[in-house]
Amino acid sequence: MAGDEIKDMHVAIVGAGIVGLALAMGLHKKGVPFTVYEAASGYSTVGAGIGFGPNGDLALSMIEEGFLSHYERVCVGHKPPAPQNIYYEGLLLEDGLGLKESWYGNSSWGHPDYIRRAAHRNAVLQIMTSFIPIEKVRFSKRLTDVEQLPDKVVLTFADGEVAEASVMIGADGIKSVVREHILKPSHPNQVDPVYADSYCYRGVISIAEAKEILGDLTDVAKMYLGDHRCCVTYLISGGAELNFLLCVADDKPWELKNAVSQKVSYETMMADFKGRGVDDRFFRLLSKANPIKWGLFHHRDTSTYYRGRVALVGDSAHASLPFQAAGAGQGLEDALVLSNVLAEIFNAPKKDEPLEAYISAGFAGYDSVRRPRAQRQHERAQEMALMLYFQHPETGASMEKVLNQLQNGWFDWLWFRDLNADIQTAVRGVHEVINT
Ligand SMILES: Cc1cc2nc3c(=O)[nH]c(=O)nc-3n(C[C@H](O)[C@H](O)[C@H](O)COP(=O)(O)OP(=O)(O)OC[C@H]3O[C@@H](n4cnc5c(N)ncnc54)[C@H](O)[C@@H]3O)c2cc1C
Repeated sequence: MAGDEIKDMHVAIVGAGIVGLALAMGLHKKGVPFTVYEAASGYSTVGAGIGFGPNGDLALSMIEEGFLSHYERVCVGHKPPAPQNIYYEGLLLEDGLGLKESWYGNSSWGHPDYIRRAAHRNAVLQIMTSFIPIEKVRFSKRLTDVEQLPDKVVLTFADGEVAEASVMIGADGIKSVVREHILKPSHPNQVDPVYADSYCYRGVISIAEAKEILGDLTDVAKMYLGDHRCCVTYLISGGAELNFLLCVADDKPWELKNAVSQKVSYETMMADFKGRGVDDRFFRLLSKANPIKWGLFHHRDTSTYYRGRVALVGDSAHASLPFQAAGAGQGLEDALVLSNVLAEIFNAPKKDEPLEAYISAGFAGYDSVRRPRAQRQHERAQEMALMLYFQHPETGASMEKVLNQLQNGWFDWLWFRDLNADIQTAVRGVHEVINT
């Protein structure tokens, strides 16, 4: 049972997506008592490809060193013999793809120290859940209400159950109940996700189908750039499938009030790319997508990741555009830093002391390390979208200018981070409380 002394500390994690699971892995590894509450009746089985970048891979391996050896078995980069340290190769969406342009042959970006890898989301989730005892996860528990009392957090679920915890972490994704609890009193206009003026159509097809359309272009992950339209393709499922997104820069508001996806007719979907000089191959690819518009939403401003005994991780804290493929990676960093902060509190020597001062110092440290960095990723993802859509004020419709940005350290700050130093900074306040 949760209590207000260090020895009775119990953490409630709301949401069993990638980030909630990463936090659960971290707490389990460090012996901190926790329960995960997930609205769905089982672990998620939806989703397509995902890759975490070197920082996300590092965070996961620091959370659980056993993770990477399993992960590497389900990952794929490019088809050999293509160099695996290419992140993406850029081409054009327009007819001919730019294969005759002077930059062709020198239009990839990446880093010599990063081997690209991506996997099917399901495969990643299966590995993560294998590290978490199932009895610590409660399914069909949709959080509807949060109350903070001086010595505990009270969680109320849609089925009427009430639970208590010493601290609660919201990993409940972009439409987060926990975010509302934290931000509504001080920053009500920051609660709801904002339409990021972009939507996409998605699909996963067999490599045989993909080759029939794109031939050897499938061998290396690609970003196809164009005027208000772009496309991303990469291999998943050990190279047996191609994951693709066809994206639209939108100049209209999102129509639906309470849904981030909208079923449209096949004709509407196809018409979205017509009359723009788009290469025929993309129409064939698009015809394989589900005719569902996935609105891309983000949290533009977030003034704090915590209030009292409650904090945010993952998309509930910093949902962003997906064009740097870095949202989950940032969530994994949250999970790494926060699991260390919570473990530091749980392992503090004076077991009978009340938790409040420790939590307050720990969450302040977590927020100070994670929020500026995740916010920077958020802003850069917006810039990246503008570059891919040829709308960026500095790079415009010039492939050379875009490449000049992406090939010259654009990702370095994001990918290569001293995560140990982040942990040390975040736990400093807890140490001060321990030493007073
Ligand atoms: C098209 C696309 C491609 C992407 N590609 C990449 C990529 O390659 N690399 C990358 O790093 N990122 C990528 N991202 C971003 C990444 O998918 C997200 O950042 C990440 O999945 C967020 O994980 P999360 O656990 O925070 O949230 P979610 O995955 O949304 O999980 C939230 C969980 O909380 C549960 N929940 C919600 N409300 C409640 C409630 N009230 N009570 C209980 N449970 C609740 C949900 O059921 C769900 O299980 C991409 C995003 C998109 C849209």
